[in-house]
Amino acid sequence: MIPFNKPYLTGKETEYITDAVASGKISGNGKYTQKCQQFFEKQFGFKKTLLTTSCTDALEMAAILIDIKEGDEVIMPSYTFVSTANAFVLRGAKIVFADSRKDHPNMDETKLESLITSKTKAIVPVHYAGVACEMDTIMDLAAKHNLFVVEDAAQAIDSYYTGKDGVKRALGSIGHLAAFSFHETKNIISGEGGMLAINDEQFIDRAEIIWEKGTNRSLFFRGEVDKYGWVDIGSSFLPSEIIAAFLWAQLENLEDIQQVRKQHWEKYHNGLKQFASDNDIELPIVPDYATNNAHMFYLVCQSIEQRSALIEKLRNQDIHPVFHYISLHSSPFYEDKHDGRNLSETDRFTDCLVRLPLFYELNVDTVINQILK
Ligand SMILES: *Cc1c(COP(=O)(O)O)cnc(C)c1O
Repeated sequence: MIPFNKPYLTGKETEYITDAVASGKISGNGKYTQKCQQFFEKQFGFKKTLLTTSCTDALEMAAILIDIKEGDEVIMPSYTFVSTANAFVLRGAKIVFADSRKDHPNMDETKLESLITSKTKAIVPVHYAGVACEMDTIMDLAAKHNLFVVEDAAQAIDSYYTGKDGVKRALGSIGHLAAFSFHETKNIISGEGGMLAINDEQFIDRAEIIWEKGTNRSLFFRGEVDKYGWVDIGSSFLPSEIIAAFLWAQLENLEDIQQVRKQHWEKYHNGLKQFASDNDIELPIVPDYATNNAHMFYLVCQSIEQRSALIEKLRNQDIHPVFHYISLHSSPFYEDKHDGRNLSETDRFTDCLVRLPLFYELNVDTVINQILK
């Protein structure tokens, strides 16, 4: 049986968890949390990072930090996970869904400006499959209209964007804030887990407070205030040291994990080129300004019927590809709140995109051979 995903363990996870437990400090913000946060800041150039218990939590923190209020509008793709929208809906925002590009599920940056109104507060680009949105256009629009940019970088660890200035920047380091996921289906995992990256310094102090239940506990432990108490709204967004210890074992192997995933991805791409062109199927594209972190390998079929047939044939061979998002603008929860615009590219990806198994220990040739058969 070839599942869609199989979490990869580097071998050190339980050792570090044992160490965390033995240290007598297993709540959050201890040694392993610090190690992980420092690694991310140094490796990817985020100004400040805070581990969270999920990407969903990090997005909720972002919505609080940019002060989303009842009636504010937030622009994001419809082809995304529910958490991208929920985080802002929880604070009363109206979601304005943008259509995907023709060549990629990422939102079409050329159509964003027409969606901006006097109520727009933020744009939330989602880097689908770890491939960058066209960030220059998005950041320019945000600057022009005084908006915040929160990157949903859930799938985008160790992926990059090169802008007009020729500088290569890590995804998640470009917007004012960014959210990452370490859910077991992502490249780097801790079961459940996530991280908020803060690039606009004005948010750093408040982010720590919101993270620690609305208290200034972090400042207190650094000796910057002499007592701690309730100073703002917040929640319990920080993970325990047990989670951080697991994550650290993964981070030590980031390079190896990424290299293996990229090899798998390239193998898929080369092995399926002819098949795709013979059957009018699209392979994933990576624009010149983006890199590929091999988070996902997908096919875009010509119709839902073709996709269903492919999925069924592979399942009969015990290989488990899966389709992806059901457009949020036509979801049971949001359908009657959506402004009615037709988002045809989004719908096409909902109907036609299929993700193939991709994980460290995968034998890619087996999947390719069955597809070719
Ligand atoms: C995985 C994912 C999330 C949610 O991540 P969690 O860590 O499970 O909360 C949000 N957005 C996108 C685009 C994702 O792929």
